[in-house]
Amino acid sequence: MSNPVLDTQSSGSESFRDATSTISKGKRMWLFPKKQTGKIFRWRNIVAYVLLGFLILWPFVKYDGHPIFLFNVLERRFIFFGIPFWPQDFFLFGLTMVTLIVFIIFFTSIFGRWWCGWSCPQTIFMEFIFRKIEYWIDGDSAQQRNLAESKWTTRKIRLRLTKVFIFYIISFFIANIFLAYIIGIDELYKIATEPIRHHLGGFISIIIFSFVFFFVFAYMREQVCLVVCPYGRLQGVLLDKNSIVVAYDHVRGEPRGKISNLHGDCIDCKLCVNVCPTGIEIRNGTQLECINCAACIDACDSIMTKVNKPEGLIRYSSSDSIEKRIPFKFTTRMWAYLFVFTLLFSIVSVLIIRRPDVEATVLRAPGQLFMKQPGGKVSNLFTVTLVNKTFHDQDVELKLINFNAELKLMGIQSLHILKDGSLNEPFLIIADELLIKKNKNPITIEVYSKGKLIDVVKSTFIGPVKIYNEDSDGNENEKQNENEHTKI
Ligand code: SF4
Ligand code: SF4
Repeated sequence: MSNPVLDTQSSGSESFRDATSTISKGKRMWLFPKKQTGKIFRWRNIVAYVLLGFLILWPFVKYDGHPIFLFNVLERRFIFFGIPFWPQDFFLFGLTMVTLIVFIIFFTSIFGRWWCGWSCPQTIFMEFIFRKIEYWIDGDSAQQRNLAESKWTTRKIRLRLTKVFIFYIISFFIANIFLAYIIGIDELYKIATEPIRHHLGGFISIIIFSFVFFFVFAYMREQVCLVVCPYGRLQGVLLDKNSIVVAYDHVRGEPRGKISNLHGDCIDCKLCVNVCPTGIEIRNGTQLECINCAACIDACDSIMTKVNKPEGLIRYSSSDSIEKRIPFKFTTRMWAYLFVFTLLFSIVSVLIIRRPDVEATVLRAPGQLFMKQPGGKVSNLFTVTLVNKTFHDQDVELKLINFNAELKLMGIQSLHILKDGSLNEPFLIIADELLIKKNKNPITIEVYSKGKLIDVVKSTFIGPVKIYNEDSDGNENEKQNENEHTKI
C-alpha cells in the first residue's frame, strides 16, 4: 500500500510492495522469527501480562450484582463499565462507536499502530503466550526451521503433538473467557458444572470457539494482522509523515555495509528482519505489515551497542523527524481530529449521564378519538410503554399537567416495573365535557420515578362536541359534529 511516509525511504526498489511479506507465488511462507529480547520487550511483557490479567479477571468482577462488561449480542444486552445498554439505546450505542472510531483515527494519526504492538489481544496471545510456548517446545528460530524442514521422526511427532495439545488447551481457555464476556460468568459456570444436555448450545459454542482460536494462533498467526484485520488495512490513509511509527533512520544508516567509516551505521546484519514477527524489512520504510511491535528496535539497539554506535538507528519516530531532523509536530490534521473527538465525547457523556433510568413512551390508542363517560365526562385512551434500564425494580408515576382532567390507570393500581423489564399499560385521561373548549387539546404528561422527574411526554386530547377546522390563516372555524362521539 502506498503511503507518503514511504516515499522518502532508502531502498531504491519498491518491488517489495507488490506482495505481502509472507505470501510468495500464491504460497504461504512460514515465519520463524528469532526470540525477542531487550528493553522495550521487557516493558511489553509487563504491559501484556497486566492487560491479560484484566482480560481474564473482568468477567469475575461484578457491580451491583452484574458483570462490569457484557456483550450479549444474542439477547441484545450490553453492559459497558457497569452501565447497561438496551436495544432502545441503539442511537447512543451507535454514537459511542462513532466516537471510538474518531478516537482511533486521532490516536493512529499520532502514534501509528502502537495499539497493535502493545495492547491488541491478537498480539498479546500470539507473542506472549503461544510464541513463548513454541520457543519452549521447538527452540529458537533456527531449530524451528530445521524441525519444520526435517522428516517425520518420533521426536518430531512427539513435539508436534505436545504443541497441538497445549495450544488447544489454551485455545479452550480463551474460548471460555470469550464466552464469559458474551453470556456472563454465571451462565458459563452453569455450562461447566451442570449436565451437558441442559446447555448443549453453550457447550457446542465453547468447542467451536476453541477450534477457531486454535486455528488463529496455530495456523493464521500474523495473517490475521496482515490480511484479516481492518485496522491494519486503514494504515495507508491514517498515517502521514508526522505520525510516530517504528522507523529506520536511513539518513544515519545508509549506505549500509560492513563496519567501516566509509559506511553509514547499519552493518547490514539483518537481525531487525530476523526478529520481525510479520517478516518485513523495516529498512524499506513503513509498511502496512508493521505492527509496531518494536522487536526490530531492540534487535538493532543490541547491535549498535556491540559496535559502539548510539542506539536508535531504528526507533519510534516520524518520517519528517528522520528526514528533516525536526522534532515531532502536532499538525492541524491532528488538532482537527482532537476537536471532533472532544465534541463527540462530550455529547456522548452528556447523553449517558442524562439518560433516564426508565424510558417512557406514551401513545394514543390507534384509530380511536374519544369515549363518553357517565356524569358528563369524556375520556381518551392511551398506552404507556416503560422500559426499566436499571438493575432495580422501579415504581413509576404519571402526572397530567396543564390540562384540567384526571389520569386513570386501567386494571392496576400502580406502574411497577421489574428490573431489566418493560411494561405496556393502557390508561385513560378523563375530562369534564363542559370544560373542553377545543377539538384538539395539547396535553403534557410528566413521568416520575422515585419522586424524580425522568421524562416529559407531549400528546393530544381529542374533544367530543365540536370539530374545529383550521382555515388557511390558522384560525379555528367551528362546525357541527355529525357523529356525537366515537365508540371504542
Ligand atoms: S518491522 Fe519492527 S516493529 Fe514492525 S512488525 Fe517488524 S519487528 Fe515489529
Ligand atoms: S539490525 Fe540494525 S544494523 Fe542490523 S541490519 Fe537492521 S538496521 Fe542494520
